Amino acid sequence: MLPIERQQQILTWLEQEETLRVSDISKRLEVSEMTVYRDLKPLIDQQKVLKTSNGITLIPKIYASSNHCSYCYKDSNTRLSVQLIKKNQHVEQACCPHCGLLRFQDIENDVSQIICHDFLKDTTISAKTANFLLNADINLNCCQPQVIAFESIKQAKQFQMGFGGEIYHFEEAIQAITVEMHGNGCFHKK
Ligand SMILES: [Zn+2]
Ligand SMILES: [Zn+2]
Repeated sequence: MLPIERQQQILTWLEQEETLRVSDISKRLEVSEMTVYRDLKPLIDQQKVLKTSNGITLIPKIYASSNHCSYCYKDSNTRLSVQLIKKNQHVEQACCPHCGLLRFQDIENDVSQIICHDFLKDTTISAKTANFLLNADINLNCCQPQVIAFESIKQAKQFQMGFGGEIYHFEEAIQAITVEMHGNGCFHKK
């Protein structure tokens, strides 16, 4: 099979099964996991496929039904925006990781994927595996405390060296934001 045929096959399986493990793909296609990663790379770069903590999943087409943040109702800024994909296939937008994480906490049981954008590379990443920098000294014009997402911990740390702030994983970031807001609700909530 050519790489392009394997990629087609992987996409077909994903449409049927939603998520796949790299080890399963490697067994089914009878190629090494290295080869699977090489096949997946362009699909990830083209934002068709998302890496998650336990494998890969398709990135649903985001219907721009609403550009308002489902948490604070502000217009959402694409570079910072977060998408919450619900189990009923509906997609909610959040203006920034701050609202995305707080909204996730409210509707966690209905969410199948939470997707955000790497702040430096603008690639699509799974929020559950991202690194979040809180309170960096940079004005993003969105919600406080400010939260920025990075795919790589190395880049998050480099950014932190320049702009300060604290780095957290997904669950810790939700807690840290909640604590900082003292349970007062979002500043921008109307
Ligand atoms: Zn918001
Ligand atoms: Zn915001």
